[in-house]
Amino acid sequence: MLAGPLVFVDIDTQRDFLEESGALYVPGAREIVANLSRLTRLAVEQAIPIVATACCHTPDDAELSRFPPHCMAGTEGQRRAEATECSDSIVLGPDERIEGPLPRHLTLQKRAFDVFSRPDASELVARYNEEKPLFVVFGVATDYCVKAAVEGLLARGCRVALVVDAVRAIDPAAEAALLDDWARRGILLVMTEIVCKAGEVSS
Ligand SMILES: [Zn+2]
Repeated sequence: MLAGPLVFVDIDTQRDFLEESGALYVPGAREIVANLSRLTRLAVEQAIPIVATACCHTPDDAELSRFPPHCMAGTEGQRRAEATECSDSIVLGPDERIEGPLPRHLTLQKRAFDVFSRPDASELVARYNEEKPLFVVFGVATDYCVKAAVEGLLARGCRVALVVDAVRAIDPAAEAALLDDWARRGILLVMTEIVCKAGEVSS
């Protein structure tokens, strides 16, 4: 069921969201760190491209009227968690654009929770989608940034899988209904174990 090329989509796995002392800790996020680490290692070993997103805020960002300050530019909390950090990541600031080929690991910084707030996001997704891969989405938070990414990928004709044991929601009570809705709309709900088995086989 996971046949064909894969692209991993790592949503906002940053210290402020994943660490209990972080500025906007997502409940239960500590429990998914081992799976995040496993998925990242698999991608490195099997040369699966990763598109990562990262909040990178300045004090006047509109999102900060809705959420407490988090992932402020230049802070420790804005950094990627150790589990998903890739030393060779190409990091694009909110106003930077990529030139040339897509790197193995690309980090897209953003000022709003929706990665498609970046004007270049649609074009980038179209480039990743040229080989019609399965976009395997994980990270936080299911009900905000992950939701925006999943819905945006669906709207752009992408095949999408969600790793249910590698996501967590800010409102855990909202998660089940979201997963139900996505499953009905054709999103594959998968477990880390399944992704890792498929990734090893397809290499
Ligand atoms: Zn944010």
